[in-house]
Amino acid sequence: MKPVLRGLTKRCPHCGASGLFIGWWTMHKHCPGCGMKFERDQGYGTGAMIVNTAVTIGTFLIVFVAIMVVTWPDVPWSTALIVTMVINTLIPIVFYPWSKTIFLGLDLAVRPLGADELARATAWLAQNDSPTNGIDAR
Ligand SMILES: [Zn+2]
Repeated sequence: MKPVLRGLTKRCPHCGASGLFIGWWTMHKHCPGCGMKFERDQGYGTGAMIVNTAVTIGTFLIVFVAIMVVTWPDVPWSTALIVTMVINTLIPIVFYPWSKTIFLGLDLAVRPLGADELARATAWLAQNDSPTNGIDAR
């Protein structure tokens, strides 16, 4: 559960370090605190997309149903359309960094780092004298 909670706060789900992002859209390749490689497998970004889509659809459904329940039987369909379009546009953008850290937290909760990943993280930290210095291509 701890990895998920750390992911909810946009921190490294493994060690709790912050500063995982370079701007809004780009995540460091490795955690600046523990050296863990964030993309644990090929195509790892798909999991974050699933989290982001689930949150967007969930928010859309809650707001849409709330508008219908509160205003029934005279539902303002045009207003509902505009509000839900704004939600469906903004949530994926605003939520993007959290979708990455939350998915990573979920994955770590189910599949903790193995000995090989821990060894690679430690080696990465040893090779980078200033792990918070920015983008790492490895
Ligand atoms: Zn870390």
